[in-house]
Amino acid sequence: MKIAIIGSGITGAVIGSLIPEAYVYERASHVGGRATTRFVNDSVHFDIGATVFKDKIEYFEKGIQHEFDFIQFLKERAPDLKIKPHKTYPSSYHPSNFMQELSQSLLSKSRVELLHNAELITKSPDEKQWTLKFASGKTELFDTVILTAPVPQIISLLKNSGIMMQWDDLIRFRGEYRSCLVLTGIWRNLPPDIMNKIKSLKQYTYLFKDEEAEYISIESEKYRTNDLDNSLVITIQFSTSFSSKNLERWCDVDRKPMYYILNSNQYFFNRVFHVLDIPELISKKPDHMDTHKWRYSQADFALFKDTEINLDHAKFKEYLALCKKHNIWITGDWIWGSRLIRCALGATVIAKEILKK
Ligand SMILES: Cc1cc2nc3c(=O)[nH]c(=O)nc-3n(C[C@H](O)[C@H](O)[C@H](O)COP(=O)(O)OP(=O)(O)OC[C@H]3O[C@@H](n4cnc5c(N)ncnc54)[C@H](O)[C@@H]3O)c2cc1C
Repeated sequence: MKIAIIGSGITGAVIGSLIPEAYVYERASHVGGRATTRFVNDSVHFDIGATVFKDKIEYFEKGIQHEFDFIQFLKERAPDLKIKPHKTYPSSYHPSNFMQELSQSLLSKSRVELLHNAELITKSPDEKQWTLKFASGKTELFDTVILTAPVPQIISLLKNSGIMMQWDDLIRFRGEYRSCLVLTGIWRNLPPDIMNKIKSLKQYTYLFKDEEAEYISIESEKYRTNDLDNSLVITIQFSTSFSSKNLERWCDVDRKPMYYILNSNQYFFNRVFHVLDIPELISKKPDHMDTHKWRYSQADFALFKDTEINLDHAKFKEYLALCKKHNIWITGDWIWGSRLIRCALGATVIAKEILKK
């Protein structure tokens, strides 16, 4: 059975690690999806999507409660990956080096094709397989296709597949996603007294619900390995309302910051320094600034959003039956909920079902 996995985020990476003979296609130049990292140089990098993951989650199957132990799964499937507990959140972890390592390690033995943007899925001429067409014009035949992209992209991929009508009920209204804007500042060569203050901050992630800046992560503390390094990296993730309002004026297609944020970034950084109580840095311009926009950051109407994962759920059974019928497995946070551990658990369930066939 020839299997294609579209996407190398946590969902694609977990399935890829369980079905190593599958071909993994990723449209970006790197793996990771929404759990990804931006590299400025050898020593400076920061996560622009997910920043932590939970260790364990419960789920129900055949009326019995089970536990998915993500850390144990990673130990087995990605033995070289080193992870650390998050200093602030209990039961939360991140890779020792950078978030993108999650997918990289899980896919270390897989066939991964980067810069492969799947454009269209249609039936093969004999109707027995699926033809996958890429933006480059290349086509490949597969028996089974696993789609892990956000729903709006999946709907576009399947528009000529002839199966969309049957999926419509289940998938279309789950296609609403929140957006999230991200702003990062890097300050280099800070004096020792300020660095000591930063390093002594007990909690380095702050949540301000209902404010523009919703989540602030001092990425340099998360990944600091060298005490002599005197740079500070702060990443701000903005609230849904702020992000949807400013989505089109944040950064251009080349990820270059646009006029609006070029003018207002200092205001946001000053708010952070005010909250962290580092007045010495107020009005200090960053040496480097980075912007990112996540158009599809979190699925708003996931089947198991914020609820227990119940594999006996009637809708879930209906969903599995459709996947099996077409040999097109559509999975990701729109089913399991927008958390790495949920997507990872979901990926193990889907891989098990495919391997049963
Ligand atoms: C800003 C932000 C912060 C978050 N913080 C946390 C957190 O701290 N903890 C947590 O647990 N979760 C967090 N999440 C949620 C978590 O990141 C996601 O739920 C999870 O990463 C989704 O993984 P996925 O593999 O299902 O999808 P994705 O990561 O989106 O992977 C899909 C992949 O498919 C690729 N792709 C799409 N279309 C195509 C195509 N046509 N051809 C080829 N490839 C394609 C994409 O490039 C991508 O790599 C956060 C999300 C965001 C955006």
